[in-house]
Amino acid sequence: MQYVSTRGAAPIVDFAGVVLSGLADDGGLYVPQVWPGLSMSELRSLQGRSYAEVAQRVVQLFVGDSLDSATLAGLIKDAYAGFDHPAVAPLRRIDPETWLLELFHGPTLAFKDCALQLLGRLMDHFLACEKRRMTVVAATSGDTGSAAIEACRDRSAIDIFVFHPKGRISEVQRRQMTTVMSENVHNIAIEGTFDDCQALVKQLFADEEFRTEVSLGAVNSINWARIVAQIVYYVAAGLALGAPVHRVAFSVPTGNFGDVYAGYCAARIGLPVAQLIVATNSNDILARFFDHGEYTPAEVTATMSPSMDIQVASNFERLLFDMYDGDSKEVTARMGALDQAGTFLVEQERVADKAALFVAHCVDEEGTLEAIRDTRKRAGIVVDPHTAVGIAAGRAMHQPGTVPLVCLATAHPAKFPAAVERALGAPPPDEPTIMKLFEREERYAVLENDPVIVKGYLRDHL
Ligand SMILES: *Cc1c(COP(=O)(O)O)cnc(C)c1O
Repeated sequence: MQYVSTRGAAPIVDFAGVVLSGLADDGGLYVPQVWPGLSMSELRSLQGRSYAEVAQRVVQLFVGDSLDSATLAGLIKDAYAGFDHPAVAPLRRIDPETWLLELFHGPTLAFKDCALQLLGRLMDHFLACEKRRMTVVAATSGDTGSAAIEACRDRSAIDIFVFHPKGRISEVQRRQMTTVMSENVHNIAIEGTFDDCQALVKQLFADEEFRTEVSLGAVNSINWARIVAQIVYYVAAGLALGAPVHRVAFSVPTGNFGDVYAGYCAARIGLPVAQLIVATNSNDILARFFDHGEYTPAEVTATMSPSMDIQVASNFERLLFDMYDGDSKEVTARMGALDQAGTFLVEQERVADKAALFVAHCVDEEGTLEAIRDTRKRAGIVVDPHTAVGIAAGRAMHQPGTVPLVCLATAHPAKFPAAVERALGAPPPDEPTIMKLFEREERYAVLENDPVIVKGYLRDHL
């Protein structure tokens, strides 16, 4: 199984290569050179199987010779053993044809665990095979840091350093990171903003000598293995609702376009998907693209669904590559235009033809609150604001009486109590995982926003 860059000028790599490299050398993203697939009968044979068994079959398609099946089975079993629901990603009905796919049963109560728990183990395995270590660095505005820490904690070939802006994240978000006492986990509060933290990470990567010295790496959202791990729950949910005989539609709260792109990949390997609803909050660049074919980032607006407050959807380049039938020159030209002119266009007929599965819908703050209220009224279920954006978009775009609609529930409501309280007049019920955080000791360093000091700290703590 080989992977090529969307920009066409990076070396071709195998699965181990994509897991360890993240971004390709030419600035592009890795995609399969030839897509694998599952036949109708193979899909039928997966019905009634456990999440781990479906994961094994789906992930194996993309692994090629990089892992034998027993090793892969061990990594998958270990990755999902810590989830607090036996189904890993259970479905819950909210009305006769609408389902919630709960993706928040992992250690940080958000869907990023579904992919990162496996990615951390895959990285650790491939590093050990090459007798290497890696230093993972990440900047977080709150949520992704904890998922990255949980993915890398106690992995023997990885050290992780996470920078958060001091005093600018919630106490729960901080405690989810700083109460992890593993030897290889290092939390750093930077005297500055999230943008300062991100700039620091960029500066570390830009220093080639330092990058090589400590073998810098990332677990960012463009890593192909994260996409693969996310394909699994689309296939599992589809099978549970009658695939491959029946089709299913999905509504996906979207930021970096990783999650909904994984839904597209599920369709490409053979799952009969009727529709992919790209649900955005007021940061509606993708809704504008699917309506007019114009991709133009605007200013980021802060909303109640902060993990979707994104204007440049990094995984979108992978769909662009497919819209141009794998022509990396067309992709490179458009990404260049985005850099230089801040915009690019794709012909509308092309979008309608090559991205026919997608529709997009933007949900504002009032619509988000209304969806939280409506879901509690209909089903007695409290949802978080990200999930609510997906439900509202699903209700707007899905044709009733056709196929089942699956709305992806990407975070536990207890992670966003303020928004839930605003909608319902009372906060969500206490969640034991979060309550326990307040009994634990915290450990983190506070550093000035200065790359020299930060580099010194990393060297001292490796
Ligand atoms: C990251 C995240 C999203 C957006 O997912 P993308 O893959 O970036 O589109 C949605 N909801 C929650 C809770 C998230 O953490």
